Amino acid sequence: MAPNLLGSSTLLANTAEPVQIISRPVAYGTYHTQTSLGKGGQFSASRYRSKIVWRNVFVFLFLHIAAIYGLSLLFTQAKWKTSLFVYIYCVFTGLGTTAGAHRLWAHRTYKAKLPLRILLMIMQTTALQNHIYEWVRDHRVHHKFTDTDADPHNAKRGRTLDLSDLEADSVVMFQKKYYLILAPLFCFLIPPLFPWYFWSEPWWTSFYTVGVFRYTLTLNGTWLVNSAAHIFGTKPYDKTIKPTENRFVAWIAFGEGWHNYHHVFPWDYKAAELGNYRLNFTTAFLDFMAKVGWAYDLKTVSPHMVKKRVQRTGDGTWEEVKNGKMNGDDNDHQFHSDALWGWGDKDMKDEDICHIKKYNNLS
Ligand SMILES: [Zn+2]
Ligand SMILES: [Zn+2]
Repeated sequence: MAPNLLGSSTLLANTAEPVQIISRPVAYGTYHTQTSLGKGGQFSASRYRSKIVWRNVFVFLFLHIAAIYGLSLLFTQAKWKTSLFVYIYCVFTGLGTTAGAHRLWAHRTYKAKLPLRILLMIMQTTALQNHIYEWVRDHRVHHKFTDTDADPHNAKRGRTLDLSDLEADSVVMFQKKYYLILAPLFCFLIPPLFPWYFWSEPWWTSFYTVGVFRYTLTLNGTWLVNSAAHIFGTKPYDKTIKPTENRFVAWIAFGEGWHNYHHVFPWDYKAAELGNYRLNFTTAFLDFMAKVGWAYDLKTVSPHMVKKRVQRTGDGTWEEVKNGKMNGDDNDHQFHSDALWGWGDKDMKDEDICHIKKYNNLS
């Protein structure tokens, strides 16, 4: 998701109508986010008008020039401790997005105790990619509707997305309320203080490296997920959707590149079938938090469920299908309208919910 630096959200330099996201109260007192699909509730490719938001283009152009200057400082003037700190802070920021905004709040793949929620909220604030509430809203829409904009099958269902779980989370609502103060503070002002205070790095060197360069780098990592992992790679779980399995993105984005799997099973806390820590650092972090007791009710997908889906909609690149140990295509079709945003999506089948609960020992 692109950050909402200047008011308009969802896309960086591009806006596309008519999918307008609005939030409004409904009769029973909770807030729902609704996607407006245009007249007759039908998506139509021709109804889209894309326009470049030049203001954002210039902001991001300036940001990237400043980031390149920051990068040059890392090679010429900055102390080695500052370079190391940039790396550590990249991880800190990245996990705020992957483990926090994405796997906890957007998809509800696990539950987190208050200290972890506060930590993840601070980490996510340093990422400056919109506050959690807006990030999650956009991301749930991405899962539910992306790749389906021109699909006439899509408009018939799933047009309201429930965000009441976020409204019940005081940590999310606190960040939303004070975001305009918290975001610049945690993204640009507090991080450079560490090198400046602890090892006397000049303030501006610290600002351009730990502040600007680190921010821009993590921003590009996030964009990779929503670009490269929707274009390049295999589709072992569902060949009818755009998201792909992409090792490079998985490595860069702490395990968020197993995107074909993730779009098919968005409630899995690993966001991948296998728990390889090297290409899924977020899973390592969450497993550690589960050991400490701060993360609990982690949800995964049973091998049975994976196999069933691979056989039904996979592209034949799943290991056992490739090796000829399993038949990979029963010629069924999976329509886009079956897309889910995560645990708690009202379109989830009851039998699937029961199966997942049983498999993960959830009450
Ligand atoms: Zn997702
Ligand atoms: Zn995606």
